[in-house]
Amino acid sequence: MSHPIDAGRTWDLSGYFPSFDGPEYKSFKETLRGDVARHLKHAALLAPLSEENTPAWRDEIVAYEDCATRLGHLGSFVGCLGAADAAAEAYQTEDAALSLLGAELEKLRSELLRAVNHTSDRAFALLLGEPALQGADFFADRLRQEAGRRMSTPEETLAADLNVDGIHAWGRLYETLTGKMTFVMDWPDGRRETLPMSQRRALTAHTDRRVRRAAHENGNVVWAAHEDTLAAALNSISGTRLSLNRHRRIGHFLEPSMFDAAISRATVDAMHAAVHATTALPRRALKLMGRLQGTPGVAWFDQEAPMHLPPQPPVPWEKACGLVAKAFSEQYPALGDYFEDMLRKRWIESEKRPNKRPGAFCTGSELNREQRVYLTHADTMHDVITLAHEVGHAFHSHTLRTERPVATWYPMTLAETASNFGEMLLIHGLLRETGLSPAQRAFLLDCEVSRAPGYLLNITARFEFEKHFYEERAAGTVPVSRLKELMTQAQRHVFGDALESGGEDPYFWASKGHFFISGISFYNYPYLFGYLLSHALFAQYRREGPDFLPRYEAFLRRTGSATCEVAVKETLGRDITQPEFWAEAVHAMEHPLKQLEALVPELTMKP
Ligand SMILES: [Zn+2]
Repeated sequence: MSHPIDAGRTWDLSGYFPSFDGPEYKSFKETLRGDVARHLKHAALLAPLSEENTPAWRDEIVAYEDCATRLGHLGSFVGCLGAADAAAEAYQTEDAALSLLGAELEKLRSELLRAVNHTSDRAFALLLGEPALQGADFFADRLRQEAGRRMSTPEETLAADLNVDGIHAWGRLYETLTGKMTFVMDWPDGRRETLPMSQRRALTAHTDRRVRRAAHENGNVVWAAHEDTLAAALNSISGTRLSLNRHRRIGHFLEPSMFDAAISRATVDAMHAAVHATTALPRRALKLMGRLQGTPGVAWFDQEAPMHLPPQPPVPWEKACGLVAKAFSEQYPALGDYFEDMLRKRWIESEKRPNKRPGAFCTGSELNREQRVYLTHADTMHDVITLAHEVGHAFHSHTLRTERPVATWYPMTLAETASNFGEMLLIHGLLRETGLSPAQRAFLLDCEVSRAPGYLLNITARFEFEKHFYEERAAGTVPVSRLKELMTQAQRHVFGDALESGGEDPYFWASKGHFFISGISFYNYPYLFGYLLSHALFAQYRREGPDFLPRYEAFLRRTGSATCEVAVKETLGRDITQPEFWAEAVHAMEHPLKQLEALVPELTMKP
């Protein structure tokens, strides 16, 4: 860096409101509450959309967008305050109050769905032709598609009421039951200790394999003791979904999740075909881990184990900012400028102090078009990578600042592209530095490849299991023995010889809470999509150099107003319904993996 950067560690939230308790915040919220109620009353009186009433519905769509933007502004502000001071109850109370307001706003959205359901093409075209809805056509179109999949209003109302004590009750049962679960941990030194199940995950990431194995095996004793209850919950959640799909005339159980993800079946199939054809690469990454611990493959409980690498030197905050700024500005000047601007405006909270919520996030407002990044920098290299990740998210929102709010609401599938891109820019920037020690180089390479098995193998196995389970569930309840069998088969099929003999986890369907989320089905594969898409884009950047960046930005700007297929095709000229696109993304990891394979034995030989 040629000039010093101001690297303050607490953020400035005055761009939202002068204060939490002040009159500005209160009147802003009360005005919003009044507006939501008024529009809800208004919309409820309107007949469904026809050629006669397009101006009235235009106003309600604009009002919905406006209210959602203002609520997002409040939510972002309170979310920031609550994370930075987790002990303050006032923020939690306020957060709950905003959720209630959100539920009211959701009713306005239901009115919009009622409006566009069964509407004529001509009335819909008239609506989209309204100048006030320019740039909102993707949003309106999706609204209409969603409406088309609904049952009649009384049926939907009945289903929503029954779901509270049905599908969602099963989801809550899972949370309550597993939240109170404990298991007996056998420590390698002979100690026995009863621990909450929530601590098991951390123990399966322990450096000592004996600890990992004990946590896994003893934990599974408990999952086995509850297997009937858990299987009943899983069967009921999926069964309800299949019934509702039938009544909503949804042809395939993947459709709701693909709609949420804004992707087509052709894309899902192409991605999975490519992943299955390239499992050799992530398997090699696991085998490398196995070699380090002296086993031919790994067991299910080894997947989260850290690579045995020498410790990295600490990185103080100022240095972390310098590393990120340098890597960004050398490779992507606009991103580097944006990051320095964030620092100057104090948009980043990084201080290490008590009462901060763990984790990291990026948030922002479509009202003031400002972003904030939250993290706790504890001087590790991992924290530096987190910083690059979250700033990548913020930059995504920054590029969307020219779009109307409804055109900034991107699907989960496109949410992690910019963040992973930021991470990779940092890692590649650092790897170009001369004078890195082999340990530093190995650490960076490991950052690049260590997540590959988790995404490419673990998530794929989850998808295989879930898909087969839903197929069989359509014919009736799937018993515990079959759930275990389906899970073991999926793991064996995807992990192949990287999974040591007997190393499967037949109870993963029970211990993985994602399968029991009642509000969303097939939770995991959109993350695989996001991971691979960001790698594909980064590979394209590496091939094409700086010429790629304007197109990358055009892509980011398009993420809220097109399906994934269209956004990628239009801006980057690539076809994501073809397996080649996805295979390329996996192959891009060949080079760093090879380097790591060459480096690691040398490193671990040393005492
Ligand atoms: Zn992220």
